[in-house]
Amino acid sequence: MSAGWLSRIDAVEPKVHAFLHVDRSATGSGAGALAGMTVAIKDLIHVEGMPTTAGSKILEGFMPPFSATVVERLRAAGAVLVGKTNLDEFGMGSSCENSAYGPTMNPYDLKRTPGGSSGGSAAAVAAGMCEAALGTDTGGSIRLPAAFCNLVGLRPTYGRVSRWGSVAFASSLDQIGPMARTVDVCERVFHVIAGPDDRDATSARVPPPARTDVGLKGLRIGLPREYFGEGLAPEVERAVRAAATWYEGQGAKLVEVSLPHTNAALATYYLLAPSEASSNLARYDGVRFGRRADGVKGLRDMYERTRSEGFGAEVKRRIMLGTFALSAGYYDAYYVKAQKVRTLVRRDFDAALSKADVLLTPVSPTPAFELGAVKSPMALYLMDVFTIPSALAGLPGLALPGGFTDAGLPIGLQLTGRPFAEGELFSVARSYERAHPWHERTPALESS
Ligand code: GLN
Repeated sequence: MSAGWLSRIDAVEPKVHAFLHVDRSATGSGAGALAGMTVAIKDLIHVEGMPTTAGSKILEGFMPPFSATVVERLRAAGAVLVGKTNLDEFGMGSSCENSAYGPTMNPYDLKRTPGGSSGGSAAAVAAGMCEAALGTDTGGSIRLPAAFCNLVGLRPTYGRVSRWGSVAFASSLDQIGPMARTVDVCERVFHVIAGPDDRDATSARVPPPARTDVGLKGLRIGLPREYFGEGLAPEVERAVRAAATWYEGQGAKLVEVSLPHTNAALATYYLLAPSEASSNLARYDGVRFGRRADGVKGLRDMYERTRSEGFGAEVKRRIMLGTFALSAGYYDAYYVKAQKVRTLVRRDFDAALSKADVLLTPVSPTPAFELGAVKSPMALYLMDVFTIPSALAGLPGLALPGGFTDAGLPIGLQLTGRPFAEGELFSVARSYERAHPWHERTPALESS
């Protein structure tokens, strides 16, 4: 068993670079809900005995003194925790190119990005190096890489999964969730990690959901008008519309809905997430965690040099944007205004999800792009235009395989549901997967 996953890692990891740390002696247990299942952990989540880098130089050498709640739960369920996966630094990015430890390659096309920020987790599963992985999703970081790598990935309802022991990026948005090749495996991991945790003040007092089967007959599937406009690649649009037509053929009702604040959501996120990040990342001061610059002259010089040497360009950009948005004189105009728009975004979803039971949309406007091809930060931010709004609203979102482009790149579908409706999302996804086993098309890594 264990020899299997290790030899797979030895064979394909040099091509993919999904891992920042592999625990070659990892074992699981023979009993438990996930007995013997190999699971990789995004390196933003603490696993005792393995370093946490968050993809940043600033945490180089940091060993967490404890494991995250989700990790304890996986261990207790018998999972084999194979290692820590690559990511955009502190989760800030959509391509894994913002990792201080070099990018991860998409197993379906090694010249392309696996998506981000949980790109290492996605690539590890897609390349067959483990059965499942944990990612984190602040504005799309589970769903985007799942879509780019032909996987099922769930962003749970805000509060559904404990974040105790994960490195904070934007605390009002961050969620941990599972990624796997199939709906079934993704759901099994979700059941193990979900549920209340006294150590996370934002953890919802809601028991983990039972597995449900919702029929497709009469199910109202909402198609938000704003998600099918300019910028959406024709092949992605075709796949989403084909899925909608398939559901309709199974007896579901398609309803057009509107999410009018979709465009404002992106700007809102890029005020709120950097604001929260600027506050959360203040703790990396060279004193308490990780690395400190050498040969410093005094305290101020130590802070300045540690932080300028330790953080990458995108993280610095976010810290500066966030600090600006929170500063006296600008706070009302930016941060408070963004909070108000967030309420409008949430209301859009309340209205749409009263007309529809679930929403069906693309995950991203395009399939995986070539590494190095998208240079402007704004163009990268736009990759999350369909995943950020529901994150602001705190809703669960599931990415699932929806087919391939002519060039052989995976296309993702996204289902968005009401709060705590993960069971329904899994059920609706499972029906589609049974009729469309796209997950069986695994990457041809051996020949490349
Ligand atoms: N790509 C988005 C960002 O850079 C979302 C990242 C995430 O969900 N962690 O902030």
